Amino acid sequence: MTAIWSVDKEAFLQNAIQVKNDNSIMAVVKNNAYHYGLAFAVTSFLKAGIHTFSTTSLKEAIKVRELAPNATIFLMNAVYDFEKVRKYQIQMTLPSLAYYYKYKNDLSGIKVHLEYENLLHRSGFKTLEEIKEVIEDHLANTNEDKMIISGVWTHFGYADEFDVPEYGVEREAWINVVNALLKEGYQFDFIHAQNSASYYREGQILLPQHTHARVGIALYGSRPYSRLDTQIIKQSLTVKGNVIQVREVNVGDYCGYSFAFEATRDHTRLAVVDIGYGDGILKSRAKHDALINGKRYPIRALMMSHMFVEVDDEVDAQDEVILYNNDIRIDEYTFKGVGANSEQLSAMNHDSLIKEYR
Ligand SMILES: *Cc1c(COP(=O)(O)O)cnc(C)c1O
Repeated sequence: MTAIWSVDKEAFLQNAIQVKNDNSIMAVVKNNAYHYGLAFAVTSFLKAGIHTFSTTSLKEAIKVRELAPNATIFLMNAVYDFEKVRKYQIQMTLPSLAYYYKYKNDLSGIKVHLEYENLLHRSGFKTLEEIKEVIEDHLANTNEDKMIISGVWTHFGYADEFDVPEYGVEREAWINVVNALLKEGYQFDFIHAQNSASYYREGQILLPQHTHARVGIALYGSRPYSRLDTQIIKQSLTVKGNVIQVREVNVGDYCGYSFAFEATRDHTRLAVVDIGYGDGILKSRAKHDALINGKRYPIRALMMSHMFVEVDDEVDAQDEVILYNNDIRIDEYTFKGVGANSEQLSAMNHDSLIKEYR
């Protein structure tokens, strides 16, 4: 018996179809598609009718090109390997005025999307005036092989937050930029801003004038915020271990390394389970429970390749111990403070767990 990471392929596809609905989606496949596997995710999204992809690394963008010869691929980080970007027909962000002036000749033939910085301050042009400056300089450029401005975009830093006004602020600032550019008569093939949270906050529709929503986590089956119903976004991933044996301990017995857990009753039953932090179960996740035979039991101690779960008489050796599935979801623990959805997903150790697509 070995702990397993498995994805239900049909459930993954059905979720993607439901997330897309009638909209044009740019699927974010960064970090190996949120650790679901780049090839698997891209193939599934194509089946769901999604033909536009986005990632942060050129290496992944090239892999996507090999998987999806006709797709639009957008690289969210600016890179300097212009030859490869051209060769694989990857569209790329234009991240600043300085970058534009330094590399405008190197960018010849490359389609770029002008990035607006907004409240996240990670990248992008500071103001509408900076964006206009680039467009005007570009229009005045008589070089025949110059770069091509194909899009404008921004990234919201606060769409996942409800108790602060920042999402409204960054949303309005961005909409003003888009409207001002369109009013000037500039045209773009791509206008995109919304991550999963923003997409659902707007009612699962695109912002006005937008061509795509740039969605990640919802496509992978986790809700970006807790007010969304669990039926709207469904998890296809299961992570489970097995009970190796059940041991009885008595009041005052310390269990696990360095007094990890102290039994407070005689005849406490502890299931020893074959999954631990070495497999990617976060310490913060182990403060909560696991699902065995349809019932939840508290995790009492976490070790590298084991954990203790306090159980009752209904649990025996060889029973399955589910850490994550659609009934005990990643997003439930996100909202309990364990860590971001993507953080829990990224932690999984695909070398120690058996990995299955079923
Ligand atoms: C990760 C990322 C997204 C997707 O965000 P989700 O919350 O996973 O939908 C969109 N845009 C950018 C720039 C990102 O880095």
